[in-house]
Amino acid sequence: MKKHDKKLGMGTSITRRDFIGGVGVALSGSLATFAWAETEAPRDTGLLALTSREAIASYPPTRTGLRGNHPGSFEVAHQMRDGRRWDPAEVSDTGEAYDLVVVGGGLSGLSAAWFYREAKPNARILILDNHDDFGGHAKRNEFWHGERMLLSHGGTINIEDFNQYGAPAQRLIRALGIAPERYADFSDRDLYLSLGLSRGVFFGRETFGTDRLVTGEGEPSWAEFLAKTPLSEAARRDIATLHETRVDYLAGLNLEQKRNRLRGMSYQDFLLDLVGVQRESLAILQSDGYWAIGIDALSAYTAASGGAPGTLGLGLAEHTEDPMYFRFPDGNASIARLLVRSMIPAVAPGSTMEDVVAARFDYAQLDQPDAPVRIRLDSTVVGVRHLGDPRTAQEVEISFVRDGRAQRVRAGRTVLACYNSVIPYLCEELPATQKLALSQSLKAPLVYTSVLIRNWTSFANLGVYRVHCPGGYFNSLRLSDPINIGDYHHAKSPAEAIIVNMYRTPLAPGLPAQEQWIAGRHDLLTTSFESFERHIRDQLGRVLSSGGFNPARDIEAITVNRWPHGYAYGQNPETGEIAYMMDEVPPETAPWLAARRPFGRIAIANSDAAANAMTEGAIGQAHRAVTDLL
Ligand SMILES: Cc1cc2nc3c(=O)[nH]c(=O)nc-3n(C[C@H](O)[C@H](O)[C@H](O)COP(=O)(O)OP(=O)(O)OC[C@H]3O[C@@H](n4cnc5c(N)ncnc54)[C@H](O)[C@@H]3O)c2cc1C
Repeated sequence: MKKHDKKLGMGTSITRRDFIGGVGVALSGSLATFAWAETEAPRDTGLLALTSREAIASYPPTRTGLRGNHPGSFEVAHQMRDGRRWDPAEVSDTGEAYDLVVVGGGLSGLSAAWFYREAKPNARILILDNHDDFGGHAKRNEFWHGERMLLSHGGTINIEDFNQYGAPAQRLIRALGIAPERYADFSDRDLYLSLGLSRGVFFGRETFGTDRLVTGEGEPSWAEFLAKTPLSEAARRDIATLHETRVDYLAGLNLEQKRNRLRGMSYQDFLLDLVGVQRESLAILQSDGYWAIGIDALSAYTAASGGAPGTLGLGLAEHTEDPMYFRFPDGNASIARLLVRSMIPAVAPGSTMEDVVAARFDYAQLDQPDAPVRIRLDSTVVGVRHLGDPRTAQEVEISFVRDGRAQRVRAGRTVLACYNSVIPYLCEELPATQKLALSQSLKAPLVYTSVLIRNWTSFANLGVYRVHCPGGYFNSLRLSDPINIGDYHHAKSPAEAIIVNMYRTPLAPGLPAQEQWIAGRHDLLTTSFESFERHIRDQLGRVLSSGGFNPARDIEAITVNRWPHGYAYGQNPETGEIAYMMDEVPPETAPWLAARRPFGRIAIANSDAAANAMTEGAIGQAHRAVTDLL
């Protein structure tokens, strides 16, 4: 092993790979203590919560290593994309018949099942998903440190503004027992501030010629903060001006004219051409990944709507008076878990939003023959067709591959809550125009990483809880949000273990956004866990080592959630423009409206159906799809 790798702690037992059921599972250091007890002396972590190799491997939320679209989840779908078809003779009939089969067990698919049962309480429903866990992007990352559970979101994080949700989505959230207005009861929001921690920026040597962490972003003034950075005088002036002045760079135009002007322009061009910043100033303005694209391809309109630096004087920033924000410690995975528990009560005890957080789910209950709702995991759907003429057929046949075996079930109706882009392959009877519209959906790739560290004294020593890393492999890193709910308790003291969230947007700057995302997807599927791990250790070490952090000693577990098919965006097929905000594409050219038309007994849900990368889109489209069917 190279000397540097050794210093980073590569090869320590946390990343030993174990092969269980043919699927690679990296066991975390904490969880692995018992798993490896037969072959090596356990490390002194005193861990008891999950005490067997089987327990770790059989409980999906505790699996570490490469998660998100984990190995084993997407290969069959990619075979289908590459032309493989399953001959009816090789598809065995399970003999099962349902009122509804839902393809895709993300928030949209689970919500579709929920809305269907709201309308037809006795309906028998099967949900098929290609992952080993339900929830899609709503993924729970669960770690154990001694007797303590630590949770993180593996994908979707929050209810960003409940007031913006449509009526059906609000009804569903309320019916699950979620009370967004109670967030203040659970959030220990001042924890980090009370310890004197602030936001910081890490200037990495690849981009800025030196490694330097500067804390107190923008404090006490931008000029004073910037004086500590390695930026040139000219760049410091640019950044201070962008943050501290409110110039209207489109003075003379009315709001509509401003919007039209900005729609066709990138934020980067806005900064260079209208504001007149130096090119060297752009590096620190690279986004922290919120939009899953860099400033070179983000529209200036979207940037201005979000109040990006330099745009406030335009008067276009959207303000919400009372954004009703809510978040669980495992992100929106708790919404998925509440949905599952409401439809399959045997899966877990409890009945409230508080008790679902720490509840242990019994995955064996997900697919019980007598239950009215069943969820079958590790099942990739490869065929959906009407049994007869779609206009008059009474049934649909759904074929899926599980454990390498193709099988089929029948259903009165089907909701396709998977990705739009996969639908033309599995549903060949759709009209060609609809297939084209489906194939025009866009997905932006993202990587959300959860790293369990044994304490956060280094963060406390440095006075920082959240770090923007412009130009870094990960765009940003931050300590988990302090949320205490039910029996779940977040760390209070820097001496306790905590999760660090690290976010990466894999891109290829300079190309059109669509091409950057294709390149990013490729990057994700070809990057090994070992390579992610090296970047994680290296970046955490460089940012935090002056506070005493030692990656070889302090990292206890790593879960890399890769989302090659992440945020759903739309595009205008005529101009190629991306709809980061949905009103950027005129409705008459929006391909997702044509893509989601019902066809016979098949309806289409999923966030692609709204080209909306937010949870309310996924739930709202589930309701619309069920309404289409009924
Ligand atoms: C990393 C990330 C962070 C986000 N953060 C937020 C946030 O903080 N707040 C917010 O409001 N929104 C957020 N979003 C957006 C929002 O949460 C998602 O849009 C929403 O969860 C999508 O749900 P879905 O069911 O439509 O799709 P998915 O979650 O993608 O679920 C679809 C499921 O169908 C499966 N599938 C696909 N093809 C097949 C097949 N052939 N057979 C079987 N199964 C198949 C997929 O693998 C997947 O499991 C985020 C999205 C991502 C990716």
